[in-house]
Parts: sequence; C-alpha cells; structure tokens
Amino acid sequence: MKKFVLWTLLLIVLAGSAALTSSFMPKALPVAALADASLPAATPPPGMSLSALPTGSMESSAGFAYRGGDFLDRRDFSMTAVLVRHPKGDLLFDTGFGRDAAAHRDTMPLLMRSMSKTQFGTPVGQQLTAAGYDPKQLAGVVLTHAHWDHVSGLQDLPGVPVWVDAPEHAFIDSGRPMAALAHQLGPLPLRDYAFGNGPYLGFAASYDVWGDGSVVLVPAPGHTPGSIVAFITLPSGTRYALLGDLVWQVEGIHVPTERPWLLRQMLDEDTAQVRTAIGQIAAVHQRFPDLQLLPAHDARAFAALPVFPNTAQ
Ligand SMILES: [Zn+2]
Repeated sequence: MKKFVLWTLLLIVLAGSAALTSSFMPKALPVAALADASLPAATPPPGMSLSALPTGSMESSAGFAYRGGDFLDRRDFSMTAVLVRHPKGDLLFDTGFGRDAAAHRDTMPLLMRSMSKTQFGTPVGQQLTAAGYDPKQLAGVVLTHAHWDHVSGLQDLPGVPVWVDAPEHAFIDSGRPMAALAHQLGPLPLRDYAFGNGPYLGFAASYDVWGDGSVVLVPAPGHTPGSIVAFITLPSGTRYALLGDLVWQVEGIHVPTERPWLLRQMLDEDTAQVRTAIGQIAAVHQRFPDLQLLPAHDARAFAALPVFPNTAQ
C-alpha cells in the first residue's frame, strides 16, 4: 500500500514537472479579426506631450516573460510611469516605485519577492517636484491596473485623484493579496470612470478622456479585473498603446503569446481574458505596425521615449 502511494506520488510529480516545463515552451495565440480598417480619428491639441519617468527595475529573463522566451536572455523589467500633458489636464499613467517600495514589495507572496533582483530609483513625486512640476497639477493618476509595482509611487502623490474603472475599484476595495498594497495605501482618492464611448480598434467600448481622441482608454481585463489599455495620440501623429501588464515584453504581442503557466497562475486573474486581449492587440499591431507598443515592463520599448522633463510631442 505504502509503495502504491509512493509510486502515485512520483507519477504526479513527474506529470506535474512535464506540464510545467511544457508551459514554458513556445505556443502562439490566435490573432483576432479586426473589423474596422481605419485608425480612429484623433485631433490632439498643440502642447500635448508624453514623457517617461523611470523609477527602477527588476532583473528577469525572457523565459519568465513569455512562452518560448530564452532563460539566458536577460531582461530588465522597467518600472516606469508615463506623463501625458494635455491642455485639458495632465495624466500620469501608473507610478512605478515609491519611496518605500522595498517595504511595499514585502506585501507580495514570498515566492514573487525572491524571484528577481530589484533596483530602486527616484520616485515619480520627487522627479516631478525636482523639475518644478507640482504633482497637484495632475488631473489624475490613471492606473493600468492596481498591482503593487504600479501603485507604489502613489504614496508620494498625496491628494492626486486615482482614476479607476469599476472592477478595479472593487479589486482595490477587496484588499485581496494582489491588491494588498493599493488597499493599504488607502483610502485612496479614487475617481471612477466608465467606458461610455463606442468600440475602438476591436475593443467593444472605450473612454475618450478629453473628447478629442488623443487619450482613449479601453477595458482589457484578465491580468486584474479592471486592467486597461491606453491609446495615446500626439500632435505629431505618433500613436502609443500603453499595455500595462497584458504582456511583459513586446514579444507577447509580436508572437503573440502569453506568460508561462506558472506566472499566469501566480499573477493573472483570468487567463482566458488575457489571451483574448493579447489576440486583439496583436490584430491592431499587425494592421497598424507604426503604433508604438509599450508593455509596462519592457525597458527596450521605453528606451524609445524621452525621459521627463524632455517630451515627445
Ligand atoms: Zn507590473
């Protein structure tokens, strides 16, 4: 009997390791069909600009970032906020690390904390102030999602409204483990928005923030219940898609492919929804290859952006 139990356990372990290994192997996702052939209209006003505010990084590898990635291919996961200045209101997308980011990281489960070396840089609040920009000028911080590495810097931006959709608001209120820091930093001055505008680039609904098509948010749930993608169009005509953590590196869209199973299990709320949204963005990318894809943690993608206070217009 004892032998039988041992053999069964051994088989389970072997099957489990085989499944785990195969989950790191390459596997491309289907690309969605994109019904609308043209780019949505946008009339970004003069004076609108975009810049990056790097706040630190975590050492990882392509193998952990997407299925089929090489474990020897080292990738620095950037923790970078994006400032979009607009005459109607300046918005900061995510915050990266705050002044207590090392302690904030400890709100994560031990396995995740021990997986990568972290470098902490200057918090966004300090960077803005040092350049003579009062953070209170911000119309808000728009969260691509409420995970700790995207909200940590809120501690240095007191009183600035934090824009969230209803599912992410509920996620923060829940205080569940992956929203623990956002919950602990609260009560945050959350400002709810809804997707009251029509379909946008294959997404069923959108929120055209300033009514001119220059900043458009679409729901892309899955990584968290209220994750979003933000499409930004500058006066020069350059377009960006801020992808949050839909994928961690651009290969996630180029292949397209998802995170390895282990990482999906630890971090994604709904893996099927993530797959769908990856397929949608992949379709947009194939149709409009000039659109700049900005996965929140792809340092190579962010290297193309000017660093605050320099701007792209
Ligand atoms: Zn993240």
